[in-house]
Amino acid sequence: PLALLKDPSLLKTGSFINGDWVQGTASFAVEDPATGAHLADVARLGRSEARQAIDAANAALPAWRGKTGKERHAILLQWFRLLMENQEDIARIMTAEQGKPFAEAKGEVAYGASFVEWFAEEAKRTNGETLPQFDNNRRLLVIKQPIGVCAAITPWNFPLAMITRKVAPALAAGCTVVIKPAELTPLTALAAIELAQRAGIPAGVLNIVTSDAQGSIDIGKELCENDTVRHLSFTGSTEVGRILMQQCAPTIKKLALELGGNAPFIVFDDADIDSAVEGAIASKYRNAGQTCVCANRLYVQDGVYDRFVEKFAARVAAFKVGNGFEDGVVQGPLIEPAALDKVQSHVDDAVAKGGKVLTGGQRLEGQFFEPTVIANATADMKVAREETFGPLAPVFRFQTEQEAIDAANATEFGLASYFYSRDVGRIFRVGEALEYGMVGINVGIIATEHVPFGGVKQSGLGREGSHHGIDEYLELKYLCLGDI
Ligand code: ADP
Repeated sequence: PLALLKDPSLLKTGSFINGDWVQGTASFAVEDPATGAHLADVARLGRSEARQAIDAANAALPAWRGKTGKERHAILLQWFRLLMENQEDIARIMTAEQGKPFAEAKGEVAYGASFVEWFAEEAKRTNGETLPQFDNNRRLLVIKQPIGVCAAITPWNFPLAMITRKVAPALAAGCTVVIKPAELTPLTALAAIELAQRAGIPAGVLNIVTSDAQGSIDIGKELCENDTVRHLSFTGSTEVGRILMQQCAPTIKKLALELGGNAPFIVFDDADIDSAVEGAIASKYRNAGQTCVCANRLYVQDGVYDRFVEKFAARVAAFKVGNGFEDGVVQGPLIEPAALDKVQSHVDDAVAKGGKVLTGGQRLEGQFFEPTVIANATADMKVAREETFGPLAPVFRFQTEQEAIDAANATEFGLASYFYSRDVGRIFRVGEALEYGMVGINVGIIATEHVPFGGVKQSGLGREGSHHGIDEYLELKYLCLGDI
């Protein structure tokens, strides 16, 4: 697939440190999850290169921070334009290394680029405050200043958007950045960095250090332990988030964590069932179920349960599964063999505990898994507690509103949640009662650049996107001026 790139120079295999592409002495292979084909060998760097990147970011900080917001705005806007002009090529690289259907990949490029556009605009609006004085001989001001050198560790499921959602606000705020992209999807990240360079982001302001799984752990240690880095933003598993939080404790680093979810999707008796079926499909099966906001547990009220599962399973059974470059494919491969094992273990466990497979349930040849719906799900199943991160929808039955709320909240996670109802009282009651950072009501897709994305409980810390997103990268400074 990569032979079809309109601009082959977007395919980079080095890391980018202080304005130079760095190949290093070792490499690791990147493969196509749909075919197993070898795509590229990418620089396998380690701790010392991470340190170099941090030093470069630190050296570049005064000049970048010294630009006006409008100057940073212009450069970021140019990066946004270049991302959109190269949407097809970036999407091609993304589908090749990540597997998501090409149309979805193009959608992610637009979504990823939208953060660059949004924060380019916000670069001009880091307004401070003046406060009423407590004595007439003084004046009190609050200014916002960039936090400094920032690090970003990103996952493979959104190889572009999880980078831009962190990097764009950091750069807009006047910070410099070191990125450690996921080892399974570095090529999308590198193409984005190439475009950032073309857009005029100065040397050292944006650096990326690539490595394999072991090297990522070493680089992660440097990013966490190095005192020059003042902020770490991570998207990935709760398990790794805990490790990073511990590693950041000695240097009291500011942290933004976007971790695992276990999203409930509730359908009440008064819901529009056709709309709920479409919402459940969009929420559950996008990216083959590999997003942190994917519905993980479907709760359907007794009165509409049979009607919902029948329509839902029929729609799911008709999905075309295959290589994301094939026309009409709506579900691609899973990212790696371990992901298939996890889905299979959740299916087997559910079946052993009385779950009824309505469609799917099996692995397909290669790295594919049938889109699966299991009825009669119960709270003792693994799927009730763990994030499946794959194309499996367990459907639980409930009787009362309170029962649904209690079941939805019975998890340590709190990222996204969804429910369908046409009753305005219920919409407020349930919307307020769900212990989640985000609630989709009569809708299955909620993410966009100008809303605060993030979770509560063990789903993380902080919010990305929206006008709040840039505050993550700004410190407040209070100036107290006397002798007026
Ligand atoms: P996922 O469940 O999305 O695979 P992970 O949390 O394993 O999530 O990985 C997300 C990112 O975190 C990747 O870039 C990966 O290389 C990185 N990572 C994984 N383990 C560590 C670690 N111990 N220290 C630093 N980074 C890590």
